[in-house]
Amino acid sequence: MRQIIGGNWKMNGSTESGVLFINEMKALGSFDAPADIVFFPPFTLIPLLAELASDAGIETGGQNLFWFEKGAFTGEISPDMLKDAGSTWFIAGHSERRHVLGETDEIVRKKLEAGLKCGLKGILCVGELITEREADQTEMVVRRQIESALDGLGNVSPENFVIAYEPVWAIGTGLTATPEEAERVHSLIREWVSTIIGQEFADNLRIQYGGSVKPSNAVTILSKPSVNGALVGGASLNADSFMDIINSVP
Ligand code: PEP
Repeated sequence: MRQIIGGNWKMNGSTESGVLFINEMKALGSFDAPADIVFFPPFTLIPLLAELASDAGIETGGQNLFWFEKGAFTGEISPDMLKDAGSTWFIAGHSERRHVLGETDEIVRKKLEAGLKCGLKGILCVGELITEREADQTEMVVRRQIESALDGLGNVSPENFVIAYEPVWAIGTGLTATPEEAERVHSLIREWVSTIIGQEFADNLRIQYGGSVKPSNAVTILSKPSVNGALVGGASLNADSFMDIINSVP
């Protein structure tokens, strides 16, 4: 299965740093990378960077979207608008949207459904808080997030849908799940998805790990059989470290 590495820029980046990043990615060989690459700049940079990125073999996505097509929703962006701007991907349920901006499982489900229905490819993020981990609730929380998001999703194919397991306590903290822990949760996710959607889909589903992935830990994480890529925050802001992670794919 071809791995997929995502770079989530969050609320970082400018026209200058974005153009430089894409040019550097190109110079570092993004075209011949051993994995699919998608990066998620802020909305404002998508129209300019999506075109440059496609010339570098990189797809571009939106970090968020809203589930209505249009209307009186000040500050929101629709799936069609993301597509129109040049995106081919979107993220639903990133932990910062869930835990800083208050998005519920129901909101995440609506976003996922709307984005996929519009023809975008989606990454669904799931993961437990540190308090949930300490209370031994990792499995319960991640399973609930997945069951809720996939409820009634209808036609979805493994080419246009990815799950990112991102333990919230590992995001932006420098802490990471051990490769063994990531592998254990990924295997469970695959099992749960197989009961909801089907075995063939689950066998072909790419499950990324996210949470302080960097060049120094990427090889061990990406070598685990049930880890099919990474979603990278901080280390994706720099083309050298992002390409090092991509080149760590076995
Ligand atoms: C993320 O934003 O999804 C993420 C995993 O961030 P970081 O790599 O900085 O922990």
